[in-house]
Amino acid sequence: MAKKRILTGYRPTGKLHLGHWFGNLQNMLQLQHEYDAFYFIADWHALTSDWQHPENIQQFTEEMVLDWCAAGLDPEIATIYRQSDVPEVAELMLYFTMVLPMPWLERVPSYKEQRAQITEKDLGNVGFFLYPALQAADIAIVLADFVPVGEDQLPHLELTREIVRRFNSAYGDFLVEPQAIIAKEGARVPGTDGRKMSKSYGNSIFISDEPDEIRKKVMSCLTDPARKLKTDPGDPDICPLHQIHKLIGDPDVIEEFDRCCRVADCGCVAHKKKFAEDLLGYLGPFQERRRELAAKPGFAAEVLAAGASKVRPVTDDVVGTCRELLRLDPATALSANIEKRTADTEHLPESHPGFVDVSDATASGSADADDAASVDTVL
Ligand code: SF4
Repeated sequence: MAKKRILTGYRPTGKLHLGHWFGNLQNMLQLQHEYDAFYFIADWHALTSDWQHPENIQQFTEEMVLDWCAAGLDPEIATIYRQSDVPEVAELMLYFTMVLPMPWLERVPSYKEQRAQITEKDLGNVGFFLYPALQAADIAIVLADFVPVGEDQLPHLELTREIVRRFNSAYGDFLVEPQAIIAKEGARVPGTDGRKMSKSYGNSIFISDEPDEIRKKVMSCLTDPARKLKTDPGDPDICPLHQIHKLIGDPDVIEEFDRCCRVADCGCVAHKKKFAEDLLGYLGPFQERRRELAAKPGFAAEVLAAGASKVRPVTDDVVGTCRELLRLDPATALSANIEKRTADTEHLPESHPGFVDVSDATASGSADADDAASVDTVL
């Protein structure tokens, strides 16, 4: 029996850190073997909020491919692709905007929250407002059966399901209503300052950090804040460094630090040094593999190109059926039309009747004026 399809996408926002490693990546590694896994890098989504700074998106996309593949995602098993390599996503989003009532977008809780909280970016753009429609198109364009989400993301997936239902009831029961797989909760990884590890807090240990950088960051990690002196007993249960060490350390070593901390038999510096070496040992094989992949010229581009070739036949079929359901002539549908017009333009005489001269038509007040008005409205 064919495997069910699963879809996950991530915005390219830079190198992955330990929070990503334990929070998402481990799940993705497992799921690629259990499902027909589609994993995409959401560069258009990155643009919705970072439209003023597109300069890093390409580099971050390649970094993400390297991190994913070095961690064990296999492009031969999972379909790994970049969102902007699949123009059918944009076309389906356009169709979704026809059936999507504006209040559905206005009530998305994260929209208002993020606009209120993220003040350093201009999020007043339509692209950001339409984010959930793009997300719905990402999922529906590959007919994904399942989307792994955390509990807090369930409302987003429900909105996708509502959009798909509305599309299906308007045009025909074709698109798949995706189901949620509640992702196994990844470990909560504290950052070097004890808060949740996050790039925006500047407290991250990146999985591709150089060894010296890792040592430096580990030595700056927060420990039990109540333990001022080596002679003070500590509490490993509230020590952020101990929480990360537990994820990777030998159980006997962890138990020993747990014991000696409580009776002030060991110091934090010694524990930090041991943790740093354990972490380097843990990440060593990944980092070695990442260096090998990074040394292959064009590796990331090749993975993305192969992924695009795997996903496009699927998305092409889906969008083709959507055009039929929408009573659009496939030969004149959006992407085909753009290519055709580009090619034809080179050979057209200036007065070719296929083009509406807006100024003339408007001035004439003739039947052509309606055409011109339509053209103006669309533009
Ligand atoms: S000894 Fe270890 S567990 Fe105890 S506070 Fe220091 S770093 Fe944390």
